[in-house]
Amino acid sequence: MESALLAKGLNSVPTVAEAELVVLNTCTVTAFADEDVRKAVHRAHRENPSARILVTGCYAQRAPEELVVLPGVTWVVGNSHKIQIPDIVKETKAPYHGEIHVGNIFDQQEFLSAPVEDASGDRTRPNLKIQDGCNNRCSFCIIPYVRGRSRSAPADQVVEQVRNLASRYREVVLSGINLGRWGREVGSTMRLADLIRRLLNETGIERLRLSSVEPMDWSDDLLELVASSGRIAKHVHAPLQSGSDRVLRRMHRKYRPRHYEDRIRKARAWMPDAAIGADVMTGFPGETEEQFEESRAFIESLPFTYLHVFTYSERPGTPAADSPDQVPMEMRKERNRILRELAARKNLEFRRCMVGRTLSVVTLSESALSDNFLKVELSSPRPANQLINVRIGSVTTSGLREHSPLSILQNPIDLA
Ligand code: SF4
Repeated sequence: MESALLAKGLNSVPTVAEAELVVLNTCTVTAFADEDVRKAVHRAHRENPSARILVTGCYAQRAPEELVVLPGVTWVVGNSHKIQIPDIVKETKAPYHGEIHVGNIFDQQEFLSAPVEDASGDRTRPNLKIQDGCNNRCSFCIIPYVRGRSRSAPADQVVEQVRNLASRYREVVLSGINLGRWGREVGSTMRLADLIRRLLNETGIERLRLSSVEPMDWSDDLLELVASSGRIAKHVHAPLQSGSDRVLRRMHRKYRPRHYEDRIRKARAWMPDAAIGADVMTGFPGETEEQFEESRAFIESLPFTYLHVFTYSERPGTPAADSPDQVPMEMRKERNRILRELAARKNLEFRRCMVGRTLSVVTLSESALSDNFLKVELSSPRPANQLINVRIGSVTTSGLREHSPLSILQNPIDLA
């Protein structure tokens, strides 16, 4: 969006106080995300009451009328009209009252996304979105209603973009709303693994990383490709949501725990050092103590190296939000805490196993990120955006530290 606005002749400024226009790209995945958006609007208006605020993204698509009444909001632009933002702000006069541009997202047939030229901000790992939308209807999820049907970026376009990015960056992250569905449109025979093979053959990218892929889309073909290529990060992220069969059914998820387990065990067998992560949710409507325990024990039994734990939050318009047996918020949060502790323990065990090993990392501005998704503190400053091997000396509070030949001198207790 920023590139598109700059191309229209606008200039970017470092603070809200200096801006005439503030663009807020929003998330609506949970009620907490909505609240953050509303706070951000109030904050922007407080800092600069004369700035015009344009709110876009998923919250704008879902509930424009909630946003248009907030102070300072001049435009609310849904995902359906996102690519028209430069024209909306340039060509229409700022309306006196807030103006809504939202259409039916299910009319969207093509993959529309501005080309990614850069890693945003000072990041050194650009995120390339190659798929949008989702055809599933998980009963808790609002995303299909704000993102529309699944659609893929054309393969040639992805190859071209990765080729450009590879000339400046070592690692590119491929992402999507439901990334594993890339290429599944009617008439297409290409799958995500085929696209990745093309990227490896036709571009010079040194490291590709896949963001989240639904468990059943981790085909043997895809796992084998990740396991066998030295240019794909050993990182498998597969959303689980719950380890209880009964909860998964009510969530309308498309797999059972045994299917999920099969994928994860295969990933671990083929990649002994890989990062393996999942999204899990606590307090889905009707989740009993017994079902939560079933889920916890299932998660405990699998070789996860990290978890993203979410507290269930009702999204208006989804079937789960209408369920009569909502779990009390206190209980949802307590279950979240239990799973976070479990995740921290598993992550620490994994990090400890890395001490004494040599890992391939991409240097960031102040640290580095390993092939298997661990943050590494470097023993001496290195320029960002390099792919290097480092020997691991110890674990830190949340990551690893590179072995330093000088470490004994830095710590007088060691000398004693
Ligand atoms: S697969 Fe993911 S994005 Fe699609 S409906 Fe389910 S949770 Fe939402």
